[in-house]
Amino acid sequence: MNDSWIVRKETKPIFVGDVGVGGSHPISIQSMTNTNTADVQATIGQIEDLQAAGADIVRVSVPDKECAIAFKKIKTAVTIPLVADIHFDYKIALLVADSADCLRINPGNIGKADKVQQIIQAAKDNNVPIRIGVNAGSLEKDLQKKYGEPNSDALVESALRHVEILDRYDFQNFKLSLKASNIKMTVESYRKFSKLLDQPLHLGITEAGSYRAGSVKSSIGLGLLLAEGIGDTIRVSLASDPVDEIKIGWDILKSLNLRSRGIRIIACPSCSRQNFNVIEVVNELERRFEDISDDLEVAIIGCYVNGPGESKAADVGLTGGPSNLLYVDGSPLKKVSNEKLVDTIESQVREKLEKKASDNIIAKG
Ligand code: SF4
Repeated sequence: MNDSWIVRKETKPIFVGDVGVGGSHPISIQSMTNTNTADVQATIGQIEDLQAAGADIVRVSVPDKECAIAFKKIKTAVTIPLVADIHFDYKIALLVADSADCLRINPGNIGKADKVQQIIQAAKDNNVPIRIGVNAGSLEKDLQKKYGEPNSDALVESALRHVEILDRYDFQNFKLSLKASNIKMTVESYRKFSKLLDQPLHLGITEAGSYRAGSVKSSIGLGLLLAEGIGDTIRVSLASDPVDEIKIGWDILKSLNLRSRGIRIIACPSCSRQNFNVIEVVNELERRFEDISDDLEVAIIGCYVNGPGESKAADVGLTGGPSNLLYVDGSPLKKVSNEKLVDTIESQVREKLEKKASDNIIAKG
């Protein structure tokens, strides 16, 4: 789903497991586990929760050998592509290169060139891509000195250095991120870098903050870039349950009509004209629709001021009034009492989805 008001930059596609990143592949959504990776069962459980919420790719930190051994076990138990997040110790990357779907490294903190070379060779041998993660918080010391403080030029220069290292070993199977917690710096960095190279870009506002503030910050930062066609995969970084990162990631892509998943609820903010409790109905429906991944638009509008227009435009719509009116496919279907609102809308939506599914089966013959 792309209304084509956004023209995406066509980057060189790579594959993280079976998920294409870049080119014309859909913008993928990632999160990162926050369990102890050595706790195999807990980590598998969280990966499955993230997958159920709509994650395309999950990143798992691998800080030591024990976690590397656990990572291999985890990988055999899950179906979603896993990125191994590695810092400082090149041997960890060598250990997991045969099981990871992508290695996230920062050549700058791996150390001597021969160590970086060994990681690149392992990635080549296993046909695994690398994600270079440049971060304003861990810029090389000489760049900090040169620029005085982290800025977009420093981030871009750091990224280009890393690209040069990969180029030296003729390695093109990589994507990059240039993250900062500051929206302006992040947006400028990605804009500048995107003009220079065609590698896929992983977007994120790092350390964005709490659930609420971080969601807003990420939506603005990622939204600005995505609307300009920049970005092939995203992570919303929140100090919150990782599942929230996936939900917000989807909401960002859905808001820009870049991807669709699940029920899109259009609701009025409600006011004294409302003929039923709009907020309660919307919250309850959102909870009940969590298991649905098919795309459908549902309008919940409190009164006749905006109700008929929005309800007719949605797949299923409800306009509040002295008699609440249910619309299906643009036409009024029946009156619904306040007590039966949620149940009626839910069953109407599920009925429509079942019909859609059986129509698809018939169409496929
Ligand atoms: S649609 Fe009606 S109830 Fe909803 S905010 Fe507008 S005037 Fe108020």
